[in-house]
Amino acid sequence: MSAMTYISTRGQTKSLGFQDAVMTGLAPDGGLIIPAKIPEVSSRLSSWSTLSYPDLAFELIKLYADLPDEDLRELIQRSYATFRHPEITPTVKAGPIHIVELFHGPTLAFKDIALQLLGNLFEYILERRSGHLNILAATSGDTGSAAIYGVRGKERIRIFVMHPKGRVSPVQERQMTSVLDPNVFNLAVEGTFDDCQQIMKAIFRDVAFKEKYHLGAVNSVNWARVLAQMVYYFYAALRQLESGARQVQFAVPTGNFGDILAGWYARQMGLPISLLILATNENDILSRFFNTGTYSVSRVVPTLSPAMDIQVASNFERYLYYRLGQDPEKLRSLMETFEATGSLTLPLAPGEAVDPLFAAGSADRQATLATIQEFWREHRYLLDPHTATGVHVAKRHLSREDPTLCLATAHPAKFGDAIRQALGEDLAHHELLDKLETAKTRCDTVPADESAIRNYLKDKAF
Ligand SMILES: *Cc1c(COP(=O)(O)O)cnc(C)c1O
Repeated sequence: MSAMTYISTRGQTKSLGFQDAVMTGLAPDGGLIIPAKIPEVSSRLSSWSTLSYPDLAFELIKLYADLPDEDLRELIQRSYATFRHPEITPTVKAGPIHIVELFHGPTLAFKDIALQLLGNLFEYILERRSGHLNILAATSGDTGSAAIYGVRGKERIRIFVMHPKGRVSPVQERQMTSVLDPNVFNLAVEGTFDDCQQIMKAIFRDVAFKEKYHLGAVNSVNWARVLAQMVYYFYAALRQLESGARQVQFAVPTGNFGDILAGWYARQMGLPISLLILATNENDILSRFFNTGTYSVSRVVPTLSPAMDIQVASNFERYLYYRLGQDPEKLRSLMETFEATGSLTLPLAPGEAVDPLFAAGSADRQATLATIQEFWREHRYLLDPHTATGVHVAKRHLSREDPTLCLATAHPAKFGDAIRQALGEDLAHHELLDKLETAKTRCDTVPADESAIRNYLKDKAF
C-alpha cells in the first residue's frame, strides 16, 4: 500500500490521500490534483515485461494508491474483465506504424480504460465510507456512454447524463439510452451542448445544493483517470522493448490533454519514450502551444473527430505546472492571465524550444479523410477519424531506430459517417452497435432550464 500524498498545482490546498484525491476530483483552490512525487521505475521494466495487462496495472497503480493489495488487485481484475480482447490493449502493425488499440472496452472508445476503473474505485470508497454519490454529467458523445458503463448497476451511485436532444449521433445516443439499469438516468435536454454545460456549471456552483444531493462529476481531470491511462503506455512499450527496441515514440490524438499527459507521466517514471507526438484536429490550441509557446483560445469548430473539439484543455494545467519548474506561484500568475485574457505565453529564452520531448501538429478534414483512405487501401486497416489525426501527424516524425506507436482511441464503427465520407462505402461495423438498432431505450426529455434539472435531481437523486 502506497503512502503517496497529493497536492494542488496552485499550492493552496492541504495535502490529500489517494482516496480523497479520487473523490474530490478538482482541488478546492481551483487547481488540479497531482502526486507529491513521481516514482521512478526504470530498474523494474525488464521484470514487468512478462506481466499480463491487469498484473502490470496493479504494479503501477499500487505505487500511487492507498488500497490494500488484495482489494486493489481484485478491483483491477473486475475493471478489465469487461474488455473483449485478452490483451486489453493489443498492438497491431499497419505499414510503417504500430497501432495500439484502446477500443476493446464496453463502449468501444478509449475512455472505458479509465472509467471502468473509476466506477469501481468510487464504489469501493463509498462502501467504506457508507456514502452515496449522484454523478451529474453533460456530454456531446463519448464521455457519457463510457461514464454510464463505468457505474451501471452500482448500488451507491446514480448517474444523470444530459445530452443535447437530437444533437448527438444516433449511435452515441443509443449507446447511452439503451442502458436500462435503474441507477442510470438519461436526460435529453431541449437545447445545445453548451446549454447542458452551463446548467451543470451553475448547479455545481451552488455548494449547498451540491452537498445536500451528494453531487459529483467524472470529468477528465480526475487523477484516477490519468493513472489508469499510464498503464497502456507501459504495456505497449514493453512489447516493443522485448522485441529489441531501445526507445519508442507515441502519437496521441488529443483534445483535453488527458491521454497524452498519461504518456508524459510514464516518461517521467522512466519508460524510454523518445518523442510524444501530439495531434489535434482544426481545434489546434495545443499544437499551437507546443510550436510557439503561446496558449490562446479561439472558437470551437465542429470537425470529423468530435471528441477532440475542445479549446481549453482541462488537463493542460498539470503539464504547465511541471514545465514552470513546479512553482505554484508562477503557475497561478500565468493561469490568472489566461483566465483574464484567454491567452498565456511561456517565458522562453531566445532559441529555446517549448519542450523537446514533444512534436505537435494538426490534421484538417481533408488530411483526416486522406489518411483513412490511405490506411484502408494500402494496409487494409480501418482508422477512426480521431486515430487518423494522430497517424497523419505521426507520419512526419517516423524514426529509423524507434518504433512509432499510434494510439487508436475509438473503433471506426462509432464514426461510420466519417468512414463513409472517406471510402464511399459503409465499411465500419461492430456487432455491438448493430444490435443497438433494435434495443429498448429509456430517456426523459427536459427543457434547457436549470430549475427543471434541479427538480429532476431532487426527485430522483439519493
Ligand atoms: C476523449 C477522446 C479523445 C481525446 O482524449 P483527451 O484525453 O481529451 O485528450 C480522443 N479520441 C476519442 C475517441 C475520445 O473519446
